[in-house]
Formats: sequence, structure tokens, C-alpha cells
Amino acid sequence: MRIDLHTHSDASDGTDSPAELIRIAAAAGLDVVALTDHDTTGGWEEAADALPAGMTLIRGTEFSTGILTPSGHRVSVHLLGYLFDPLDAEVVLDHQRLIAERLHRGLAIVDLMAADGIPITRDQVLAFAAGAPVGRPHIGRALVAAGVVSSVNEAFEHYLAGSSGYYVPKVDTDLTAAIRMIAAAGGVSVVAHSRSRSAARVLTVDRLAELADLGLDGIEVDHPDHSASARMELAGVADDLGLIRTGSSDYHGTNKTIRIGAETTAPDQLAQLVDRATGIPVLGPSGILG
Ligand code: AMP
Ligand code: ZN
Ligand code: FE
Ligand code: FE
Repeated sequence: MRIDLHTHSDASDGTDSPAELIRIAAAAGLDVVALTDHDTTGGWEEAADALPAGMTLIRGTEFSTGILTPSGHRVSVHLLGYLFDPLDAEVVLDHQRLIAERLHRGLAIVDLMAADGIPITRDQVLAFAAGAPVGRPHIGRALVAAGVVSSVNEAFEHYLAGSSGYYVPKVDTDLTAAIRMIAAAGGVSVVAHSRSRSAARVLTVDRLAELADLGLDGIEVDHPDHSASARMELAGVADDLGLIRTGSSDYHGTNKTIRIGAETTAPDQLAQLVDRATGIPVLGPSGILG
């Protein structure tokens, strides 16, 4: 059984519609796919409607969260939430706040670039977002369209990284508050790509142990950004702390080069995840989860 628990559609910063993503997942031979757009459940209905017989859909979101360091620095951490009640008031307010925050911050980045003579406009970026929560990949696509760079990846290297002069942070939700929020909405929380980018600095083994005590359910162990040694370390941490281990592609359509299903989750780990959820059901033949 092939299971990919982290993908993005154009309901956030991927390039496939939710229905296209489901078709691509089926064509790639996946039995189970989770749709986990950033800070929105907006793609869930279309994905559910496109689900072919025999395929299972796990509805989720990648929540924008962060940790405040002792020096007062906010470090971004992505938290996957699965099978939570999408009508939970706290979740609805969190998504609304982040969507407004993403718009404000995306436009601020565009304004900095435009003021520096980079030929992109607010309208172009909003057209690439097409109503979805604005993400830096939408700005990356505007930079590609303007001929400033040749790929979204190159846009990140030269213009969109946290170290770039054009970077504007967004105000993320506190990580521990988000873990509690997802649990209260009947969902299951899994910390995403904890050994990629800045997150590695704040997600020490001690911190992961604290988060497990606070109700964190799992760790994304296999992720394209993780080295072989990071995967070994995280698998050991998950075992020590009794956390679910997941593996996922973090597919973003053509915004990234990774293919859907390039990283997968073991069936017994998914069964544990589904067991813990009380918010909403898995869609499709959940019998295959044993
Ligand atoms: P944001 O959510 O606006 O802060 O943008 C972060 C998003 O950009 C994440 O979902 C990443 O998957 C994506 N991203 C980060 N680095 C790259 C890259 N090099 N190429 C394409 N997408 C990236
Ligand atoms: Zn993304
Ligand atoms: Fe992420
Ligand atoms: Fe992601």
C-alpha cells in the first residue's frame, strides 16, 4: 500500500487543482493521499468529489506555526493537522487570520521588490494565487513570468529566502497553541520537515519531547529535505517518544521538482494516525487501514 501524507494543490501554493492532484496521485499508484494545503481546507471538497473508487483521501492542513526563542526571535515551524473538524471555531479563526496575514506579508514583499526596480506587480502575484492563501511560490511564479529567474527554485535562492533583503516574516500561530487547537478539534498533529531550514534550530530532541507531552502525535521522518542521518535520528526520536512516524513528498506540482509519492508512510503508522482522530472520517475504503 502506497501512502503520501503531505501534498499541496492550487488551493494553496501547489500548481494542480485538487481534482488534478487526486488524478495524479492515482496515476502514480498511490492508495492513500493526504491533501495538506497551507492554512486552508479550501481544496477538500473538490478533492473528495474527484476521489476514484479504491482510493483513500485524508483531509488535512499544513498550519503555519512558530516558536519564540529566548532572544525574542520567531522561528517558523510547519505543523500538519489531519482529520480535524473544519468547522471548529478556533481552527476557522486561525485560518482566517493566517490568510489575511499571508496577503499582507506577500504584498509587502512585492512592494519591496517593485521599489527596487524588479518588474513584478501586486496584481500579477494575486493572479497567480487566484484566491488561495498567498505564499512565496506565487511571488516566485511572477518572478519567472517576468524573466527575472528561470524557476521558482531559483527565485527562492536569490529573492525569496529568509536571508534575502526582500524577506518579510508573517506572524505565525504559537506551535504549542496549534497542537492543542488541532487536538481539541479532534485532529492529529504531525510536525513537518523538522530537520529542514530554520526549524531544525528550535526543534531539538528535548523540545520534541516537550511537544510530545503537550499532545503532539507524530513526526514527519521521511521528507525530501531530510538527509539520511536526519531520518535515522528522527526515527529513533519517534520510537523513544511513542510518536507516529510519517513519510511524505510535500508535492507542490511544478513549483517544486519532487514527484508525488516520492516519499511514503508505512501502513501501520497511518493506522495509528487514523485511530487517534475523532474529528472527521477518512474518505474512501478505510478498510484497507486494518
Ligand atoms: P510561505 O508559506 O509563503 O512562507 O512560503 C513557503 C513555501 O515555499 C513552502 O511551502 C515551501 O514548500 C515553498 N518553498 C520553499 N523553498 C522552495 C523552493 N526552493 N522552491 C519552491 N518552493 C519552495
Ligand atoms: Zn508550500
Ligand atoms: Fe512546509
Ligand atoms: Fe508543505
